[in-house]
Amino acid sequence: MKKGLTVVILLIALTLGLAGCGQESSEKLIVGTEPTFPPFEYQDEETKEIVGFDIELIKAIAEEAGYEVEIQNLGFDGLIGALKSGNIDVIMSGMTITPEREEEVDFGTPYFDAGLMVAVPTDNTTINSVDDLDGKSVAVQIGTTGAEKAEELKEAGLVKEVKTFDTMDAVFLELLNGTVDAVINDKPVNEVFMAKNPGKIKMVGDILDGEQYGFAVASGETELLEKLNEGLEKVKASGKYDELKAKYFGE
Ligand code: GLN
Repeated sequence: MKKGLTVVILLIALTLGLAGCGQESSEKLIVGTEPTFPPFEYQDEETKEIVGFDIELIKAIAEEAGYEVEIQNLGFDGLIGALKSGNIDVIMSGMTITPEREEEVDFGTPYFDAGLMVAVPTDNTTINSVDDLDGKSVAVQIGTTGAEKAEELKEAGLVKEVKTFDTMDAVFLELLNGTVDAVINDKPVNEVFMAKNPGKIKMVGDILDGEQYGFAVASGETELLEKLNEGLEKVKASGKYDELKAKYFGE
């Protein structure tokens, strides 16, 4: 009886083992993102799942490249550190390709054109361009190009105070509460917060700079970067990229 049982267990173990070998388990990529940046990455209000243009795009790219994706929720200012320490494999977070960041990580082919704009409460009549930020307070998200811009304007003696927050939700809450005069942030994301708060927020002035988003891998991960870049090409060629753009931006 005892021997029989051992044989049965061995057989089960063997079967499971073989089944395991037969399965083509694709390698998993851990993708870090900061999910208060709609429509690029945000938490679905009901399911709490992290969704968005970036998330669907990186999943499609990874699938083409033969990887599975696990999404990890991180602070925006912690993404580059997490990549460098190997806690994540890829950053996909509406991250602008900048020369400073390029010294720390390797960016893929740019996948989206954006840029910064000033947002103010709709009833504000005094701020009509970036020059009108003279003596004003500005809210920004920590570690972003918007934060950098606001600091530059402060150093130039224009902006009086820069208030920094961890999430874009907190940044816009501050604007809606009237505790700051303006927000500096990426135009497509401002548009979503405007739509979510009808009649309350407007953008003023011109786009402050042209920016491009890229996914990033750790410096020197050339093979992974090439595979992902090829994946992006395929996602564009198949029409999936345009499909996602239409879904999230109506273009
Ligand atoms: N594109 C901006 C940056 O890279 C903001 C990104 C974000 O807040 N997710 O700094």
